[in-house]
Amino acid sequence: MCRPKSPEGSNPEEDARVQDRQAAFLRKNNFRRIGRTRFFGYSPNPEHPSRLLPAEADADRSENEFVPTKPAPADRDDFMRTYPLHFAIINLPKQNVASVIEAYHTQDPSTVHKQDHNGFTPLYVAAAYANASALKALLKFGAASDLNKHVNKDGMIPLERIEDTMRSTRELAELLMHKWEGYSRNELKVQLILKREMGISVHGQTDEEYLENRKWGCTCGECDEGWLSPRMRFRLETEAALSKENMTVLAPQFQRGQPLPEIPGLAHQFDYLPPNLRTKVYKTFYNGYVTIFENLYVLLDQTEGVPSVPRLRTLCKGDRDVNFYLKKGGKFEYALESMVEGAKSQSCLGDSMFEEIWESENDTDDEYRKLPRCANDLEFDFVKRMIGVPPKGPVLPPEMLSSAVDSERGPTSLTLKMLVNMMSGVYEDEDSEDEEEEENYSDLLNPHYEEAAAGRRQARLDARRAAAAKAPEKRQAEASSAGPDLAFQKLLSFLPQGGVRAPIN
Ligand SMILES: [Zn+2]
Repeated sequence: MCRPKSPEGSNPEEDARVQDRQAAFLRKNNFRRIGRTRFFGYSPNPEHPSRLLPAEADADRSENEFVPTKPAPADRDDFMRTYPLHFAIINLPKQNVASVIEAYHTQDPSTVHKQDHNGFTPLYVAAAYANASALKALLKFGAASDLNKHVNKDGMIPLERIEDTMRSTRELAELLMHKWEGYSRNELKVQLILKREMGISVHGQTDEEYLENRKWGCTCGECDEGWLSPRMRFRLETEAALSKENMTVLAPQFQRGQPLPEIPGLAHQFDYLPPNLRTKVYKTFYNGYVTIFENLYVLLDQTEGVPSVPRLRTLCKGDRDVNFYLKKGGKFEYALESMVEGAKSQSCLGDSMFEEIWESENDTDDEYRKLPRCANDLEFDFVKRMIGVPPKGPVLPPEMLSSAVDSERGPTSLTLKMLVNMMSGVYEDEDSEDEEEEENYSDLLNPHYEEAAAGRRQARLDARRAAAAKAPEKRQAEASSAGPDLAFQKLLSFLPQGGVRAPIN
């Protein structure tokens, strides 16, 4: 991967010329632009889509340049009036969004395509907010022609936007909390609708199958429990077998009654034992550890399902050596971690030894190569957590994340905010329509987030006051709907008489 770069001190025209020459050189050597970024990449695989793309069809950087021409709305009211669909998608409950879209479309069909000051179309905003109802309504009213629009502040199409959000939410959750609850149904629904609309194959899956299979990121449809891919399983199985072999070879090193001598770099499996145990590896303890690797191999090779501590315990039950290992402070988790880390270090994320052996074209045994590819094939850290290895390293406390959110504006704030919501357990499904939902999806893309949020707080406060005067049993229902309803009525009131249709429920 590389990118064209001009020498220091050149003027803009010269700059562009130099970069064009560099890009032409890269393309001549089969490099192609990565998405619409400045970067060029080369794939050694001659069947990779980038290798099938003629140089002249490669994306041009200038196609992507977004030049803002409209001023940002002055306040919340201005935002509502100027970009009513954007406002509705961000702020209204789903049953009202479709009505607003229909009402404005009836008045002026071009409204569904209207780009805001960031160049975002309503379709883009619906994708960014994982708002499936809005997306469906927009598509119903002809917004499909915006599916490939990418000239906006983000330089992305709607599908890329939702996938970018999904990816960064996952990465942040894993990085900061060592925990990820899977992609949300909303995100997946939006991704699926966009893919179907764009004619991207989802391999004949029904909607429900897609949402189920993709929760943990599986793209092959064959992952055990949706996350352990066949190729990952093969890697782990190989590593467990190798560990058992290597350690068996090492066994004669033992002197009767003596611990295992320190032999640096000989058996990495011992790196995963706590330091206090490492110096006390006597023969029976050692044999117990080896037996665990042996059973891990058995579990992966001869049984269905994913490896776990309880399954290992069952397999090792009654084994004298394993019992001794456990009694002395050994844990199944140490072997699990060693197996995953060992596989990782041999993968292309490490020294690529595994690929050299198993992916070689000359290898007549295609045992590994015939397995389907999956996005989960190299997710070692994720797999480690899923099989029960406790995470290491600091976990960022929720309040630190909250303050990060407060200091953020723009697209990343959605990700951070979603993350905080996930952490506090209110990460919503589309089907839940309580007061939280409205607030959770409130900030991204809205240049007047603060005003909007303040407005909503006020609306809720007013609603609560009004409800307090009414019968107690009605109070709760009204408090949760009055704010958005006011905004809904207001949005419709901007339309001239005759443009308003009855809400679609
Ligand atoms: Zn898969």
